Amino acid sequence: MKVLVINCGSSSLKYQIIDMDTQAVLCKGLVERIGIEGSVLTHKVPGKEDFVVQEEMKDHQRAVELVMAALVDPDHGVIKSLDEIDAIGHRVVHGGQKFAKSVLIDDEVKAALDKCTELAPLHNPANILGIKACEAVMPGKPNVGVFDTAFGMGMEPKAFMYALPTKYYEEYEVRRYGFHGQSHDFVSHRALDLCGGNENTKVIVCHLGNGASISASIGGKCVDSSMGLTPLEGLIMGTRSGNVDPGIMQFICHKEGLDIDGMLNVLNKKSGIFGLSGNISSDFRDVQKAADEGNEKAKIALDAYRYRVAKYIGSYAAAMNGVDVIVFTAGLGENDKLTRQAICDEYLGYLGVKVDPARNDVRGKETLISADDSKVKVYLIPTNEELKIAMDTVKIVSEL
Ligand code: AMP
Repeated sequence: MKVLVINCGSSSLKYQIIDMDTQAVLCKGLVERIGIEGSVLTHKVPGKEDFVVQEEMKDHQRAVELVMAALVDPDHGVIKSLDEIDAIGHRVVHGGQKFAKSVLIDDEVKAALDKCTELAPLHNPANILGIKACEAVMPGKPNVGVFDTAFGMGMEPKAFMYALPTKYYEEYEVRRYGFHGQSHDFVSHRALDLCGGNENTKVIVCHLGNGASISASIGGKCVDSSMGLTPLEGLIMGTRSGNVDPGIMQFICHKEGLDIDGMLNVLNKKSGIFGLSGNISSDFRDVQKAADEGNEKAKIALDAYRYRVAKYIGSYAAAMNGVDVIVFTAGLGENDKLTRQAICDEYLGYLGVKVDPARNDVRGKETLISADDSKVKVYLIPTNEELKIAMDTVKIVSEL
């Protein structure tokens, strides 16, 4: 079965075709600058040179049409006809409270997704455009929605409720949702497979990328997740602040003459590692380099980052009354042995966590990095959100 996975942003579209019989990625690609001058499609087939199409793409439908043309292109394509695509899986950022699992998309689902737009105004409209474009270009193919928020729907009220007037929850669905759900779901289940876990196994997944979040789950069911109503809550990220005292907003707005939108722009785009390091970079490699050269702000930024991750691990161990497995994933989690080692060595000894430096000397490869006498198993597990979307798509389509 071949599944096309689509991930639409407001001006971008990422795609992959995965052959689910072998889980091989037949091709992947990226369309940038949709609706903006200079639209470009870069189509990648393993073992071949990139195929680049520079042509005006005024909307997502035109982008999908050009992606389809690339897929069946005689020189650069990977399928002979679009009939070979069995189903399309779409990443959808916000499913609100309505979608606790992936779903076959029909008119009713699309209407419900429209309603969720106010919870994710930057993301959901683009996801819906991608769905409609695929329906128009490939009528009759099953489209499946896989939600960033679905994994977090496992949380109980004590974890997902904010201590605010309940009216906000009842009338506006203001609650904690958790994001990066495809990643936390995929990685936590993979961890259960690797350690031979069962329905009682307690897993903490640290998804440390440009966006960063951490989840606690028991037997694959989410207990807690660090992101909230929006992906701003929780860990320090590349440019996002994560948790701050909400009182700071009023204080800084008055000092700097900002309105609430301006303040949120600061919290989303100018904070995190970038802000803390004195605007060196949102990329950890640059901040690490500056710290190695003696830059004090860079050192504090890295220390604060690790400290926040460790505090979450500690609080999630408390929330679950223990932890059996800790997993590192995403850009930093998969590639940066220093961060993994520092978090475990500096803060997690009391849990009996011991990382073996030789095992930890690895990048991007599924590996047990804890020592044999560690009380908690620690893994590096590369995330694969596209494969998770394709797996859910296969499951739903096979039940039709
Ligand atoms: P992601 O959002 O998962 O693609 O992660 C991107 C982030 O991972 C980048 O901003 C980098 O800060 C970080 N990253 C990627 N490779 C490395 C590396 N080799 N060492 C440290 N950080 C890395």
